[in-house]
Amino acid sequence: MWSVAARSSTGRGRFSSAAELVFASRSGAWQSAGVDAPYEISEQLEPGIARLLAHNPSAFTYYGTQTYLVGEGEAEVAVIDPGPADPVHVDAIVEAVGGRRLVAILCTHTHRDHSPAAAMLAERSAAQIVGCAPLALETVGPRADASFDGDYMPNRILGDGESIDIAGAALTAVATPGHTSNHLCYAYGDALFTGDHVMGWSTTVVVPPDGDMAAYIASLDKLRQRGDRIYFPAHGPPVTNPSQYVRHLIGHRMQRERQILRLVSEKPRDIPEIVANAYPGLDPRLTAAAGGSVHAHLLDLQRRGLVAEEGGEWRSG
Ligand SMILES: [Zn+2]
Repeated sequence: MWSVAARSSTGRGRFSSAAELVFASRSGAWQSAGVDAPYEISEQLEPGIARLLAHNPSAFTYYGTQTYLVGEGEAEVAVIDPGPADPVHVDAIVEAVGGRRLVAILCTHTHRDHSPAAAMLAERSAAQIVGCAPLALETVGPRADASFDGDYMPNRILGDGESIDIAGAALTAVATPGHTSNHLCYAYGDALFTGDHVMGWSTTVVVPPDGDMAAYIASLDKLRQRGDRIYFPAHGPPVTNPSQYVRHLIGHRMQRERQILRLVSEKPRDIPEIVANAYPGLDPRLTAAAGGSVHAHLLDLQRRGLVAEEGGEWRSG
């Protein structure tokens, strides 16, 4: 029921909105969280893939973080994105694992809505924390959308293309920097767990200095070339038309880039002015995140010599 509701509430906005951050708040979908979202109830989505929704709804997380349990049969299972430091959610994961051996706890990245439960879950099992690298916090600065988990300590870091075995099937890391520099997706058969790189309800927030727009778009292009059947994002419903969806996301970023170039070619503007022009009617809660995404575009354009900055004002380069 929740999936259907989520799809219908995002279906219109996902492809039609010109503003990448706006429609989620316009739809008001996340504000109804708690009404029909299946919090802490394990849902078997297909053989070997179950989903458990944490109770952390917000303007950035939609209904909340979706933890996935991966592995066929009754012997072994892995957990992807255990979620925020919420004991109720950790209890629900332990219950969903049941009598199976938890072989690995994997995080797509280290925002606080994704990785803090990894250590809590590791304490309650023999599982190792495997996957994305930790971030050097002093390099990332303050974040508008979600803060970083500085306590994250993996037992093993997976490089691009490295796999672990879950009940006889490979779970393979796909390096996708951009949303964060340490972001990984995970491939399992022809399904891809996309974390925050590609989400089912909204476009992804890319905020410097750790977020990087050029890397983000390159990572979208990497997915475009893969041919996965379905994406399971950390937030929002599954994406059942991945190649079309990713092409749309790339086109949307290109459109945003052209819009920013046009605005700064008219006259020098600071970031708040660009946001006010590019995101009319933006929910005030998302202004900082929108400013971050604009900044990420500007830094990318600056590296390419297309814009220049002076005293906080940006102009054509
Ligand atoms: Zn994130």
